[in-house]
Amino acid sequence: MMFRFDNSYARLGETFFTRVLPTPVSAPRLLKLNLGLAQELGLDSNALASPEGVEVLAGNRVAVHAEPLAQAYSGHQFGHFNPDMGDGRAILLGEIVTPSGARRDIQLKGSGPTPYARRGDGRAALGPVLREYIVAEAMQALGVPTTRSLAVVATGDTVYREAALPGGVLTRVAASHIRVGTFQYFASRGDLAGLRALADHVIARHEPDLAGAADPYASLLERVIARQARLIAHWLCIGFIHGVMNTDNMTVSGETIDYGPCAFMEAYDPGAVFSSIDRQGRYAYANQPSIAQWNLARLAECLVPVFVDKAEAVERANAALGTFKTHFQAAYLGGLRAKLGLREARDDDGALALDLFERMAANRVDFTLLFRTLGEASLSPAADPHVAALFDDPAAFAGFAEKWRARLASEGGTAQARADAMAQVNPAFIPRNHRVEAAIEAAVQRDDLSVFEELVAVTARPFDEQPEHAAYRLPARPEERVTQTFCGT
Ligand code: AMP
Ligand code: MG
Repeated sequence: MMFRFDNSYARLGETFFTRVLPTPVSAPRLLKLNLGLAQELGLDSNALASPEGVEVLAGNRVAVHAEPLAQAYSGHQFGHFNPDMGDGRAILLGEIVTPSGARRDIQLKGSGPTPYARRGDGRAALGPVLREYIVAEAMQALGVPTTRSLAVVATGDTVYREAALPGGVLTRVAASHIRVGTFQYFASRGDLAGLRALADHVIARHEPDLAGAADPYASLLERVIARQARLIAHWLCIGFIHGVMNTDNMTVSGETIDYGPCAFMEAYDPGAVFSSIDRQGRYAYANQPSIAQWNLARLAECLVPVFVDKAEAVERANAALGTFKTHFQAAYLGGLRAKLGLREARDDDGALALDLFERMAANRVDFTLLFRTLGEASLSPAADPHVAALFDDPAAFAGFAEKWRARLASEGGTAQARADAMAQVNPAFIPRNHRVEAAIEAAVQRDDLSVFEELVAVTARPFDEQPEHAAYRLPARPEERVTQTFCGT
């Protein structure tokens, strides 16, 4: 048996999903199996890589005890509510419980149309599948809560987008695929019983200690808000831009989901937008906290009708939404302090970080390199020229360096301990956009997976020095620069 399924979502009942089988593909070929993840999940990687296993990962064979289904959900897409979304090209095979007791969804993405496909073909192009694989696994290595990538299969079929492209199927693993939009689906239909059943399911799965709370659904809202606030703070601290923060792309587990037109910022710019479909900059880097809060307000609207204490429901929901900022600020400031090597929390830490960010923005400084190099400078001012060289005007660093050094000097701890701590939060390696594109191009155009493999290996150890891979630290040269990313749907 490949997976020991225990399908709690399938037991919720037919209003939550539609049962549908994956559509077979013509010539499945396993391009990547995540051996480390397979082991964590307690799966037999030999079985997964066997011909039968590959057929399962391609959707050509249904695994024993799988109950394939497409989940129903709604969503606000760029601010506009769409009541009828759902998994148009993803199929949940079922859930497994890992050796450490964690419940995980096993989902195929790109496995053929479902009743929610509308006019879509239910397929994914191989390029975006590889992109999701790379970025999700890099996020995991960076310590950011995220869905995972277990496998990539090439289908042997062509998908038609702006061009004819090879197809792929991603096996995605998640704590759950339940979204803010899943709650919106039931709320928009006035199905309060469904809403309660969904909330109970989410509590059992993600917040079991809330089961006995006086007002569990109110507490659930508070938890999701706190988790999302921390998640977005984490994104900002590594320069990540999700690109499509629609409510259907926001989980209630607090995991990052749906790596479409996402990107890591290179030159620091709070207004950075990469997604080709985000013409108004709604989901720009620095807008992400306020968008998350907006999305969570939509979740609050769904949950208020099922709060136990009706009299105080709206007040409690508003109070919960108000805590977003507190949770976010605490996590973000904490993250920035760690990035700057500050051990103590002081009132003017935010101002110190802002001063640096203003200089970075004015001087197009690479976000990732700056913080990594700052770690070296924390040991000795002899490294200052390395940091200053990242600025268009190298003199712009000195004003910050002086204040920063004075602050560091006023704290306890050894310089080496501080530098070591900084190297644990400031990555040397992120999946830079041009590297991701190069990996995809080699795989798709030349059937060469070595570029993808190397990028995956390097970004799996983001905080290690890896001197042999120093070139992966560097931002794109002007001619390599990626200015737009595409969702590829
Ligand atoms: P996404 O932009 O990937 O978050 O998808 C938004 C919505 O469109 C979801 O309901 C997807 O299931 C659906 N969708 C995206 N691409 C396709 C496709 N190729 N075929 C069917 N449905 C799709
Ligand atoms: Mg989505």
